[in-house]
Amino acid sequence: MNMNRRQFFKVCSAGLSGSSIALMGFSPTRNICPYCSVSCGVLIYSTGDKSKNTPAEIIHIEGDPDNPVNRGTLCPKGAGLRDMVQSANRLKWPEVREAGSNEWKKISWQEAFDRIAKHMKADRDANFMAQNKDGQTVNRWTTTGFLASSAAQNEAGYLTVKTLRALGITGLDTQARI
Ligand code: SF4
Repeated sequence: MNMNRRQFFKVCSAGLSGSSIALMGFSPTRNICPYCSVSCGVLIYSTGDKSKNTPAEIIHIEGDPDNPVNRGTLCPKGAGLRDMVQSANRLKWPEVREAGSNEWKKISWQEAFDRIAKHMKADRDANFMAQNKDGQTVNRWTTTGFLASSAAQNEAGYLTVKTLRALGITGLDTQARI
């Protein structure tokens, strides 16, 4: 089917009104399954409107029937998305295991960013290769790799690759190996 971006969103809006739980008065949020590169569309239903007596909680996640990628279907992993989101074992903060320790300790996001930046700089300063043994410019940094997300939007993916390639990183991958 040929459809431009504007037409796609128009069709999506119209289709939403026919969705099962939407008929009961709930208004879902559109999102993308984070597991793999197929990027199936999902509808996320929640309670709570940020008022004090109605805590926000996801109550249902289903395939988006209007998304052209999956047309409402989800594989078993995607169908269990709500369990992953609400799992008691889900890690919601950065942790670090110091050298010589066998324990993980919780740290703040800021500390995590600072530590990662320091490690990256030290490694790049020590191992960046501007030229190969024949004197050809290569600008490679091969001792640090980066695992990006296959579930990010095109724009985020573009910026990720541009930034990492600008640093000279050659080892770039995602969980979907694409
Ligand atoms: S529902 Fe399954 S196939 Fe679709 S993006 Fe998620 S993991 Fe991939």
